[in-house]
Amino acid sequence: MSEERKTLEQRAQMTDLERLRHSASHVLATAILKIWPEAQFAAGPPVENGFYYDVDLPHRISPDDFDQIEAEMKKEIKANHPFEKVEVSRDEALELGKQGRLAALGERHEPSKFKLDIIENIPSDEKISLYRNGEFIDLCAGPHVMRTGNIGAFKLTNVASAYYKGDEKNPQLQRVYGTAFKTRKELDDYFAMLEEAKKRDHRKLGRELELFVFDDDVGPGLPMFLPRGAVIAEELEKLAKETEFAAGYQRVLTPHIARESLYLKSGHLPYYAESMFPPMELVAESAEPSRPLHRPELFRELLEKPLSSAALDEILSKADKIRSELPTDRYYLKAMNCPHHHKLFASLPRSYRDLPLRLAEYGTCYRYEKSGELFGLMRVRSLHMNDAHLYMTPEQFEAEFNAVNEMYLNYFKLFGIDRYLMRFSTHDPAKLGQKFVDEPALWQQTEEMTRNVLKNSGINYVEVPNEAAFYGPKIDVQAWSVIGREFSIATNQVDFAQPRSFGLRYKDRDNTDKLPICIHRAPLGTHERFIGFLIEHYAGNFPLWLSPEQVRILTIGDDSKLLEYARSILSELRAHQVRAEIDESADKINGKIQRAEQMKVHTMYVIGKRDMEADAVSVRVHGKGNLGAKPRGEAGAEILQSIKERRAN
Ligand SMILES: [Zn+2]
Ligand SMILES: [Zn+2]
Repeated sequence: MSEERKTLEQRAQMTDLERLRHSASHVLATAILKIWPEAQFAAGPPVENGFYYDVDLPHRISPDDFDQIEAEMKKEIKANHPFEKVEVSRDEALELGKQGRLAALGERHEPSKFKLDIIENIPSDEKISLYRNGEFIDLCAGPHVMRTGNIGAFKLTNVASAYYKGDEKNPQLQRVYGTAFKTRKELDDYFAMLEEAKKRDHRKLGRELELFVFDDDVGPGLPMFLPRGAVIAEELEKLAKETEFAAGYQRVLTPHIARESLYLKSGHLPYYAESMFPPMELVAESAEPSRPLHRPELFRELLEKPLSSAALDEILSKADKIRSELPTDRYYLKAMNCPHHHKLFASLPRSYRDLPLRLAEYGTCYRYEKSGELFGLMRVRSLHMNDAHLYMTPEQFEAEFNAVNEMYLNYFKLFGIDRYLMRFSTHDPAKLGQKFVDEPALWQQTEEMTRNVLKNSGINYVEVPNEAAFYGPKIDVQAWSVIGREFSIATNQVDFAQPRSFGLRYKDRDNTDKLPICIHRAPLGTHERFIGFLIEHYAGNFPLWLSPEQVRILTIGDDSKLLEYARSILSELRAHQVRAEIDESADKINGKIQRAEQMKVHTMYVIGKRDMEADAVSVRVHGKGNLGAKPRGEAGAEILQSIKERRAN
C-alpha cells in the first residue's frame, strides 16, 4: 500500500480534531527526541481515531516505554509552546535537513534523512514550511492547533512496524500510535467504548451465538450464515420486502454473473476491474457451441493419470493452447446489480405513465476486496445487498428522493439508531468533463433538489464539495451503534450517466424520448455489514422479532404429562410461525435456564406442574429475568403482538 502525501486541499479540510491529533504527533516526536536524541522521523499524520509518527531508532520502543514518553509529552503540553509556522526556501530546508535539524531538537551529526527525501518530493511550485514548538522543528505543511496546551488529553496506544512510504523495499520503521482528544472525558469515553466494543465484537458473538462462520475451503471473505444467522437475514429481507412493497417497489431477480460486454457498457470495466473477481473464460458460443473453456474432458484425463505436477503442467499447457486458438467469451461475477436492472428497464417500452419505476432485489454481489482488508462481516467478498434502482422523470426526483430518505429514517427508528449523519457529496463545476460527467444543468438541478429535501426534512447532514461520484451527487449514510462506534451503512446515488450509456428512454407526454434519472439506494446496506452492525448494536440481545430463537420451553422435571403439555404449547407457537424450541434434556431447571440465557434466547417459558394445572406458563425474558406466571393464551398473544409490531425489546 503506498502512502501518499496529503494534498494542500486535503490539509485545508482537516477537522479540528485532526489538527489536534496531528499536533500531538509533533509532541510525541519531541518527547522521543528528549529520550533518544538520535531518532530519525518520517511521517506523522492524523489517522482515524488518533495519530502516529514513524520513527527510525536502534532502541526497540515497546509499551513499557510509554510511561516515560508520555511523561515527556505532558511536560511539552504543560509548557504550552506555540506552534510557529516558518516558510523557508527549498535550499534553506535542504540545508537544515543536512544539519540534522529537521524533526530534531537541535543540529545533529546525522542528516534528517527521511525529511531530506520528503523535500525532494515536494512539487517545485509548493511552498515549504516548518513548524516549531519549543526546541522542536519539523518540516510540515500543517495545519496545527495554536499551542501545545490545546492538546487536552492523549494516550499512546500501540507500536507496530511499517516500511517507509509503505514500500517493503524501504527501511522498516517503528510506528508509534496514540490518540488525543480535546478533553479528558472524551478520551475516557473513547476507551470505555473500545472496551464495550470488545465485548460486543461481532466476530466473537457471531461464533458464540452460532450466527455465521468462515471456512478456508470456501474462501476468505465469504461468510456462511448458520441457521441462527440466516434467520436474521431473512427477517431483514422480510422487513425490506414489506416496506418496499408498501412504497410501490417491484421485485426482480437477476443472475449472479454477466458477460463482459455488460460491464464495459456500465463502465465497471475497466474502472472497477480491480475490485471484481477475475473473469471466467468460455469458448465463444459462436465458435464452438456450449463448450466451456475449462474443458471437463481435460480434468477427466487428469484423473486417469497418476497425479503429478508434470501431468498438471501438461493439462494446463493444453488449456493455454486452446485458449490461444479459440475466440473466448468472458463472464464476470456481478459486483453491482445496477447493470442488470438497467437492462430490465430497457426490456420493455416505457412511457412517462410507467414512472417512477422502482426495481428492487436483495442482489448478491461479489467484490474482490484485498485480503488484508477483509474484516469479519464488515469487509467481505460476497454481499447480499438491499438494492433498488428507481427510474423517474426530473419532475419526480424530489418526491422520490424524499421517500427514500423517509425510509431511512423509519429504519433508524425501528432499530433505535439515534445518531446518524448523511454526507451529501456534490460536484465541482471546474472539474466537469474530467472528474464529473459533463452535464452542468443536471448536476445543478439534482443537487439543488437533494439539498432542498435534506433541509426540509430536518435530516442531520453535512455537505462535502468535490466528492460526488462520477455520474451524480451521492449521499453516504453513517450510523453510530448504541456504544458510539461509527459504521458506514449505505450509499444513495443519483445517476444520470448510466441511464445514458445504457440508452434508457421513456416516452414523455409530448411523445418525445427522454432520459430517466436513476437513484441507486440500499438503506439496509448489505446483510453482511448490517448484521455485523446489529450484533454490536444489540450486543447479541436481539429484539423478539429478530431473535434467532424466540421462545424456549423449559420443563421443571420430565414428567410425561408435563412434557406433553410443553409439546402442545410448542406446536401452538410454531403453528403461528414463532421460532420456538423445547429443552427436553434431563437437566435441572437451573441448568436449562443457564443454557438458554447463554444463547441469548429471547423468551423462556418455564413450566412446572402448577403452571400446567392452571393452563399457564411462567415467563422469563433474557436480560429482564422472571416476569411471573401468565395464562398460556395471554403469553402467546403478547409474543405474537411484539413480533408483528417489531417492537424494540
Ligand atoms: Zn505538522
Ligand atoms: Zn446501483
